[in-house]
Amino acid sequence: DSIVEVRGISKTYGNVEALRGIDLDFPRGKLTSLLGPSGCGKTTLLKIIAGLIRADGGTVAINGKHVTAPGPERAFVFQDFALMPWATVMRNVAFGLELRGTNKAEREAIARRYIAEVGLAGFEDKYPHQLSGGMRQRVGLARALSVDADVLLLDEPFSAVDEQNRRKFQEDLIRLRTNQNKTFIFVTHSIEEAVYISDRIVLLSPRPGRVSQIIEPEIDRS
Ligand code: ADP
Ligand code: ADP
Repeated sequence: DSIVEVRGISKTYGNVEALRGIDLDFPRGKLTSLLGPSGCGKTTLLKIIAGLIRADGGTVAINGKHVTAPGPERAFVFQDFALMPWATVMRNVAFGLELRGTNKAEREAIARRYIAEVGLAGFEDKYPHQLSGGMRQRVGLARALSVDADVLLLDEPFSAVDEQNRRKFQEDLIRLRTNQNKTFIFVTHSIEEAVYISDRIVLLSPRPGRVSQIIEPEIDRS
């Protein structure tokens, strides 16, 4: 069964038609990549699923319920919804849990675990400007992972992470995706990355983005 059901989504900005008639299902326990040329509407589609922008037409359902705004069952990492610059790494990671009403002691314990998970143990009290771009992306990833949402929406979350760390995070996602209650939707323009990490690749056509092909790569990662 699918957690996320996208039906007939279209979106035009001014006179730029970004998406036309997108129908997609995202099953539990799978990582799906949205792959396509720059400008084909990948980020737009992900933000519509996140509830951050409104489609002109069509619907998004999460666990059978139509959504038009963000909600606790979805966590996301977008470049432009980044970290709070005035808050420490700890506060930034714990923020998602704070929104969900988790008490301070518990959210700090959980946040500490995910900060370590992304390789930033010891950086809890630093501020975003004291970190590299790749480290900031990892803080965003820790925040998204820590809230235990059913749906993870990740927009090129490793673009600033160096080669060595990127491979490790790709491996972590591959491991995490097998959680049968969750679905991961990952935006990338890298075919190599999509093939390596995905159970399914949704190939979008050049603008206006339409689903042109769905591929299920079989890859031996051993
Ligand atoms: P992708 O993520 O595949 O690169 P986007 O979803 O970012 O594509 O953008 C799809 C198209 O919509 C592009 O042509 C982009 O320039 C345009 N676009 C995206 N956001 C806006 C916006 N806020 N205002 C006007 N045009 C936009
Ligand atoms: P970017 O690609 O933006 O430079 P990276 O995540 O690749 O970001 O990190 C760049 C540099 O930041 C690393 O080479 C290292 O010097 C420092 N760095 C990253 N993670 C850590 C860490 N866990 N501990 C100490 N230094 C780190």
